[in-house]
Amino acid sequence: MTLTMLPHRQAAGLRSGKLHIDGEWVAAEGGATWTHHHPATGEEIGEVAVASPSDVDAAVAAARRAFESGEWSRANAQTRIAVLHRFADLLRENADQLRALQALDNSVPVSFGSIYAVSVAAAADAFDHHAGWIDKIGGQTLPPYQGGDHLAMSFREPIGVVAAILPWNVPFLLFAQKVAPALAAGCTVVLKPSEYATFSVLRMVELLIEAGLPKGTLNVVTGPGDPTGERLITHPDIDKISFTGSREVGKRIVEASAATLKRVSLELGGKSPAVVFGDAPDVGVAAATTVGAVTMGLSGQACVANTRALVHRDVYEEFIAAAQGVAAAVTYGDPFDPSVISAPLINGRQLDRVLGYIEKGKAEGARLVTGGERLSGEYAAGNFVAPTIFADVDNSSTIAQEEIFGPVLSVVPFSQEDEAIRLANDTEYGLGASVFTSDAQRAFRVARGLRAGTVGINGFQIEPHLPFGGFKQSGLGREGGRTAFEAYTELKTVLMPLGDELM
Ligand code: NAD
Repeated sequence: MTLTMLPHRQAAGLRSGKLHIDGEWVAAEGGATWTHHHPATGEEIGEVAVASPSDVDAAVAAARRAFESGEWSRANAQTRIAVLHRFADLLRENADQLRALQALDNSVPVSFGSIYAVSVAAAADAFDHHAGWIDKIGGQTLPPYQGGDHLAMSFREPIGVVAAILPWNVPFLLFAQKVAPALAAGCTVVLKPSEYATFSVLRMVELLIEAGLPKGTLNVVTGPGDPTGERLITHPDIDKISFTGSREVGKRIVEASAATLKRVSLELGGKSPAVVFGDAPDVGVAAATTVGAVTMGLSGQACVANTRALVHRDVYEEFIAAAQGVAAAVTYGDPFDPSVISAPLINGRQLDRVLGYIEKGKAEGARLVTGGERLSGEYAAGNFVAPTIFADVDNSSTIAQEEIFGPVLSVVPFSQEDEAIRLANDTEYGLGASVFTSDAQRAFRVARGLRAGTVGINGFQIEPHLPFGGFKQSGLGREGGRTAFEAYTELKTVLMPLGDELM
């Protein structure tokens, strides 16, 4: 039977996309659209409106008016908390539909959409979590340092109009980790989803409006980086850009932000290591966790996937044999089939890129253990690449250094703990890392030595209340938790004399 996504469109309630500006759903200027092709079949799934520079200007102006009106930015805590909790409930009630829309967007299997870190449940929890900060974060009252008696106070105020730019791979949690703290802090938002994951995000926006968000508070401009994203990041009236995506676009955003000194938060790519010692509690579990993160669900298209396995020589061949077994069990195909656990690559450009890296790995002398090719036969119309494991990889080679963003694991042997730490840190990135060992002291020693934003010991989990982000070129700032909320505020100091004496 030929794989087709078309019957799922109606069942999932997919409609062609519109922009959301100042409380209205509108077509893009001149009716411009971008056609989304499904990554598993190549079929045309729907039309995404392409916001022109003047559409973006209208969205930013609406967000600015809404911010200045104070309806949301100065709303009391109770009002904001209620809207965010109501939205969290609506997300949970609509989880099945959202998962189906995501499968039509990016072909992430519905089976994987229920894994916590990428689930609708995690997004809902992120909204509940950030709603919880609203009535708890304030400033300080400080004693005078010199001069007459006066009050010195600090306040946290919303930063203003936020541009939130999303990638395509994890639309639920990443929407939440930007929009929840921004709204909780009282900001207004212009959101740009990825052109490759628009439909699931638009449904979340509808639900947020249903939850009672005032008009103009959240505006949505859809379309590709050029023209839509470029106008947003260069717009003079944006106060902060919160971006998740590739390092290259992250650098462009830093450059563009300089003109008006916008605040910037960046969640970028990674080349995260899994460090497996000879005393790992279970080498098979270490291999399953590592290979699973690189091949299942998003097929390695995950920022934090541990795409480098640094394995002690004592358990090296055992790890590779177990890894091969896990790779052989990965299933592909219809994302609506609950037995399917992995996805195709998002588009033809990414397919070519990943196949190019595989050729590079072979040319650089790594040992291809399994995979290494595009899937054919019934999968030929999609962008499927077989789970690929390279062993005996030199850590300085291209496949060990660059973010491939596909189902490719590089296994590098080591002999000593300090060597493992050195190899793990020998990368321009610093997003995540895992350590597998039964020795608690070694686990903490190594965790402390690793230059990465999140280190998992004998496992890895992302939760919405934990700070998440990167060292080095993996980003700027953190999402999740109190620091993330505070990053959507400005601190203001107010001084007031308590008598006639000057301060
Ligand atoms: P991408 O950088 O190509 O696109 C991300 C977003 O930026 C999209 O909405 C895109 O339309 C937009 N964009 C592109 N060019 C732009 C420009 N010039 N101006 C403004 N916006 C522009 O990334 P992607 O392919 O969607 O996602 C994959 C990347 O995201 C990987 O590098 C991955 O590691 C990273 N990522 C990081 C995290 C994290 O939390 N650190 C999470 C998920 C993905």
